[in-house]
Amino acid sequence: MGLELQKISGNTYIISAPTNIGVYVNNQGVILIDSGNDKEAGRQIIKLLKEKGWEIKMIINTHSNADHIGGNNYIQRRSNCRIAATQLEAAFIQNPIFEPAFLWGGFPCSTFTNKFLMATPAKITDIIPSSGKILDTDLEAIPLPGHFFEMIGVKTPDNVLFLGDALFPERIIHKYHFCFFYDLASQLQTLERLEALEAEVFVPSHGIMTKDIKNLITLNRDKIKEIISVILSLCAKPTTLHLILEGLSKKYNLTFDANQYLLISSTVKSYLAYLYEKGELEMFFSASNITWQKRSNIKG
Ligand SMILES: [Zn+2]
Repeated sequence: MGLELQKISGNTYIISAPTNIGVYVNNQGVILIDSGNDKEAGRQIIKLLKEKGWEIKMIINTHSNADHIGGNNYIQRRSNCRIAATQLEAAFIQNPIFEPAFLWGGFPCSTFTNKFLMATPAKITDIIPSSGKILDTDLEAIPLPGHFFEMIGVKTPDNVLFLGDALFPERIIHKYHFCFFYDLASQLQTLERLEALEAEVFVPSHGIMTKDIKNLITLNRDKIKEIISVILSLCAKPTTLHLILEGLSKKYNLTFDANQYLLISSTVKSYLAYLYEKGELEMFFSASNITWQKRSNIKG
């Protein structure tokens, strides 16, 4: 099924897709917020905008995950548009091998360098700060780190806030339980920041746009807290990452394919680091492994 352009408010539009794409139009042309899953999304975006007589001037990427930058290369080659991203995300966008290498934690074998984890590279023309006015546009960057290193939200003058992956929809949380997080402490702060943010319409990248995100924030935070308590209970005695993953997959009925394994094991490592830094877990090096144990059980 083809993608469609839908007006949200004023000059702000959405192209609803597995990864939503924001469209902001002014007299200079179109600014895209993310570019879709892949080349095909890029092709359809260009076609839709051409029907309107609109020209793409810039893509702003909320972050560098392949499903948000997949159309970058195709669109940039055809429109010669600028691409703006924050510094750390820009490094991944220009060097997509970093994504599977980071997730795997070593040289990624060919099974991991697939299109879900590795987009085609595109040229970043502008590195932008993660907060404040974006370049010479009327758009504003809002820092939303946590899901990825230096993710941003983008707010348009029509008071529409594109959230990237700062909030996952109920459907995804209930089905998968595990959402990818790089930095849990930042993610929890981001959820707090979102509670205080005002906008007419919020657009999560993988969900339906909404006027009120309070319930979604609670749902996202509750799932993180639930997973924390499951991990802590799995670490009642010294436990390896392997056993923690096994316990979680039993509890949540998870089945791992290559991509799921990389995303979930990386996220669990981030949970472990978060709990370690909070003093809730201790880490031990044994002869051949690292084990994790809930701190209160050690001191009695
Ligand atoms: Zn995403």
